[in-house]
Amino acid sequence: MLSVALMACSHSGKQPKLADECIYNPSKTQFCFWSNAAEQMEVLIYDEADSNQPSVISLAKGDNDFWTGSIDGDQAGKFYTVRSFQNGEWAPESPGIFAKAVSINGQRAAIIDMKATNPEGWAQDKRPAMTDPTDIVVYETHLRDFTISPVSGVAHKGKFLALTEEGTIIDHTNLQFRGNWSTGIDHLKELGITHLQILPMFDYGSIDETTLAKNNYNWGYDPVNYNAPEGGYSSDPADPACRIREAKQMVQALHKAGIRVIMDVVYNHTYDVMGCALGRVVPKYFYRLNEDGTFANGSGCGNETASDHEMMRQFMVESVCYWAREYHIDGFRFDLMGIHDQETMRAIRAALDEIDPTILTYGEGWAAMAPAYPYDSLAMKQWTYKMPRVGAFSDDIRNALIGSPFDHERGFASGNAACKDAVMRGLIACPEWSGEPMQHVSYITCHDNYCLRDRIEVSAKEDNWENQVRMNQLAQTAVLVSQGMTFIYGGEELFRTKRGIDNSYQSPDSINTIPWENKVFFNELYEYYRHMIAIRRAHKGFRLGSAEAVQEHVEFLPTENKHLICYHIKNLEGIDSAKSLLVLLNGGAKAIDAEIPEGIYTILAFDGEANEAGMGDYAGKHIFVEPYSATILAEN
Ligand code: CA
Repeated sequence: MLSVALMACSHSGKQPKLADECIYNPSKTQFCFWSNAAEQMEVLIYDEADSNQPSVISLAKGDNDFWTGSIDGDQAGKFYTVRSFQNGEWAPESPGIFAKAVSINGQRAAIIDMKATNPEGWAQDKRPAMTDPTDIVVYETHLRDFTISPVSGVAHKGKFLALTEEGTIIDHTNLQFRGNWSTGIDHLKELGITHLQILPMFDYGSIDETTLAKNNYNWGYDPVNYNAPEGGYSSDPADPACRIREAKQMVQALHKAGIRVIMDVVYNHTYDVMGCALGRVVPKYFYRLNEDGTFANGSGCGNETASDHEMMRQFMVESVCYWAREYHIDGFRFDLMGIHDQETMRAIRAALDEIDPTILTYGEGWAAMAPAYPYDSLAMKQWTYKMPRVGAFSDDIRNALIGSPFDHERGFASGNAACKDAVMRGLIACPEWSGEPMQHVSYITCHDNYCLRDRIEVSAKEDNWENQVRMNQLAQTAVLVSQGMTFIYGGEELFRTKRGIDNSYQSPDSINTIPWENKVFFNELYEYYRHMIAIRRAHKGFRLGSAEAVQEHVEFLPTENKHLICYHIKNLEGIDSAKSLLVLLNGGAKAIDAEIPEGIYTILAFDGEANEAGMGDYAGKHIFVEPYSATILAEN
């Protein structure tokens, strides 16, 4: 027999949290759901994920439209849904908007003891040290891409646990080479990145978790349960605790390796409206509507959420805080951030600051279509400076270096001299919109659009292979010496190709996988990336950290050649081991004999090679910059 008790809101005097939908204790489980539209609400308790004879708990309406109830006894292992009676009928059941543990495919929420999901040593887990956001190098990957390759050498291919495996090397059983080439988490350590940004790892809907053996692929930008991990990345999606424990193990292992973890969060839309919890609990409230009552569509996916509505804002704030606290997540990348309003982004920033001010926040400062909200109040890139310590991806430096994704034109790094001024703005982090350098995410490629090799191939197809590789290196070099926060799309260091597919969101593994064998075949390119990252991390001059310091120390020396940028970071005594840094970027097909300030220099990069320890000394007033390449000098 179930003993069901009605109770008044247990959070007397304080606004309840959306995150407290289900609070488990061995003696009692409490429920608390928000709805401003329900006339009645019920929680249905099931013994199994797929059983169909629930015990029903009627919820009582308390203050501020929160509905509460509880059930005595130890309910761990059971499942629940919630439903509301509105407009004369019962809405479909849902796991609630803040389910933290879910059944397979996220259909029902699960009652579990969250403390029991903590891996051993979790209480001692610490975020790796971080001083300034411009010090960091973000590496973006999709969990499946990263290790699904048959030669990745990891055991848990495509899973959270893949990133807990140490000492993995390329499996060369069927390959024509030998050697210990590190993969997985060891590769990330060797490459020297500081943050791993993971494509959606919350529970999404496009992969059927009951048929994982079919190896379907999706990026995962279709949220189902925002606050539970995706089952497809776990060893057992039918066990609600498994995905939680394994996601935590992944974070813990990355932290031990000195790498912070950034989640890609997609609060801007849901896969559909009435099929998801937000729509089922309160139809329309969580979404923006057009004047005619239809759903607005700033996401291009059929709807856009309404961060400007009080409870949607609270939902987003609580959700990121939940991931930061429960999973020790170190940063959030907001998909189509331009759909959200600025006030919400500032509220998120303030809430995360209370947990740890080093938790990063940045996003895409644009929308897919015009959102149904005043443009001036949206978190668009143009208004980044109004949201302190919230960053935006710089399509400015991206387009200037390699061309816009909306055409196949060349950029500065592939020979288009008209982009030179825009590259220079990007190198100093576009202060006209960014405010501070850390708010400018310097990048050229990400999961969207062509990967770098493919981009250069379509825009510079008249150029030979050698030049295309040089353009690749030059473009990435500009990112890695820029004053903003730097970001690299995973696999570029291994010269990945997606065979001309510029939207691989559901392409097979063969397109999306990281090609580990390329670490051998294109090792020179890989080594260049690795050394360039080390050069950035060795020289504070490339990451001065404030707009004021950038203005004080950076100058562009005049050049006669339209393909040459001469980026000079000077007066670095007390800041950097070098007195000054000089970066000469040649985006043209001919070598340039460049005039430089007279001095004694260590050469850090020249003609497609780089080394943070230096490649020899140079004294003089001019130096060669080979075609499509960078010469980087540190003044002694
Ligand atoms: Ca899922």
